[in-house]
Amino acid sequence: MLFFFKRREPRDDAPRPPFTAYTPGGGDAPRKLVLDGDERCDAVIVGGGFVGCSAALHATGLGVDTVLLEQNEIGWGSAGRNFGNVNPRVTKLEPENVVKVYGPVFGERLNDAGSNAPAFISELAARLGIDATIVRGGVMTGAYNDRGLDMLKARVEFYAKRGESLEYLNRAATAETVGGDVYRGSVIDRRAISVNPLALVRGMARAAAGNGARLYQNSAVVAIEPKNDRWLVRTLHGTVDAKYVLLCTNAYTADLWPGLAKTALPICGSQIFTKPIAEHHRSRILKGLSSLVDTRRLPGGVRLHPDGRLQIGGAVGTRRVTDPRVGKSMTLIRRLFPEIGPIEVEGWWSGWTMMGIHDGWRLHELAPGVLTLFGCNGRGVGAGTIFGRELARLVGGTPASELMLPITTPKSLPMYPFYRAAASIAIKYYSFRDQVEFRS
Ligand SMILES: Cc1cc2nc3c(=O)[nH]c(=O)nc-3n(C[C@H](O)[C@H](O)[C@H](O)COP(=O)(O)OP(=O)(O)OC[C@H]3O[C@@H](n4cnc5c(N)ncnc54)[C@H](O)[C@@H]3O)c2cc1C
Repeated sequence: MLFFFKRREPRDDAPRPPFTAYTPGGGDAPRKLVLDGDERCDAVIVGGGFVGCSAALHATGLGVDTVLLEQNEIGWGSAGRNFGNVNPRVTKLEPENVVKVYGPVFGERLNDAGSNAPAFISELAARLGIDATIVRGGVMTGAYNDRGLDMLKARVEFYAKRGESLEYLNRAATAETVGGDVYRGSVIDRRAISVNPLALVRGMARAAAGNGARLYQNSAVVAIEPKNDRWLVRTLHGTVDAKYVLLCTNAYTADLWPGLAKTALPICGSQIFTKPIAEHHRSRILKGLSSLVDTRRLPGGVRLHPDGRLQIGGAVGTRRVTDPRVGKSMTLIRRLFPEIGPIEVEGWWSGWTMMGIHDGWRLHELAPGVLTLFGCNGRGVGAGTIFGRELARLVGGTPASELMLPITTPKSLPMYPFYRAAASIAIKYYSFRDQVEFRS
């Protein structure tokens, strides 16, 4: 009976990666080795997502002897399950709030890193020879009410002060670009790109292995124990003795480090993908854009893959999404693109990310030598890759004061079970308000 009341956690997701819109172009999976025996290194990385693979790539680039342990496959977590946008921002916060939350020094560094994120990813992929199917043209954010228009106006003004210009489109120009008349106005950030994130994360892992990192998959870490002034990381069939432990497990952290999971809340998001739409319709929608998002409170968006498939953000929740609300997404698609005719849904998938109090990433030192990048609620494709490099710089000897993020101590969310329930209600409320406002 209890089974019916069990809350599905990220750890309950099937160990096999789902088939997604990224699977066909996802490139070669790195060679699968399971840790079986004892290893010794400078830095052991737990988690094979953007943060972990980037940390492995950049740490080995700095001469740090590195082992990476992933419980399933490289990219199995949200790295291979997201929407695939690389926005010129490294947190979900509006840029002026980044400065408020992180302070003027780190806030400015983070905004600079955000502005450069798409270029950073493009250059990294080119340098490593990764075919990540990069789509350029920019991300449009559509606004369908005054609240959204005000938000976009503030964003344009903020970036203008930094000498970075975003394009504002009125209602007619927005409709012309999108294909249908839904938004009252929009802003296009031409710097933003969309990628195949699975190909990107696998490519980084392969490059890290080429640099000398030892990658082990199907090797879940079950314990982290102090050993003199080092750490012993245990999997079911082996151990790694290391000076540094980099915990890059984000929403899939579970109970690995006491209390850490209670500093942010796992949020599940789903993505729906269609069969390729007719060729003559493709050029009529999302003209010159890599993707379209809007100012709804809950994340959503649409992108057109080069092979003609549409990918659409589906339902979001604090529990694992079991119904992505295909019907609701198709209603939106028909309004956005009234001329494209029948669309056949091919499938959907879901993945987990984090929601913290400030909606931003945190770099915590959990104990001397144990570091984590945690609490990411998005932007992980660009930001996770950049912050993974920051972890590598830290273990490579860069002083903490020169990093992009301040090192902080984790703080549990107040009254965690209550917070979870409140977040669940808040998501339902936001979803309701989004729908009402969008319809009107
Ligand atoms: C639906 C959805 C849409 C999104 N859209 C975007 C977007 O468009 N753009 C964007 O930038 N970001 C987006 N994100 C967020 C982005 O995917 C994440 O920020 C990013 O993947 C986080 O990277 P990570 O390396 O921290 O964690 P993950 O990629 O989740 O990797 C963590 C890894 O740790 C492993 N792990 C956990 N525990 C253990 C253990 N005990 N032992 C070994 N391994 C372990 C897991 O198996 C997993 O592979 C989206 C997320 C979702 C869910």
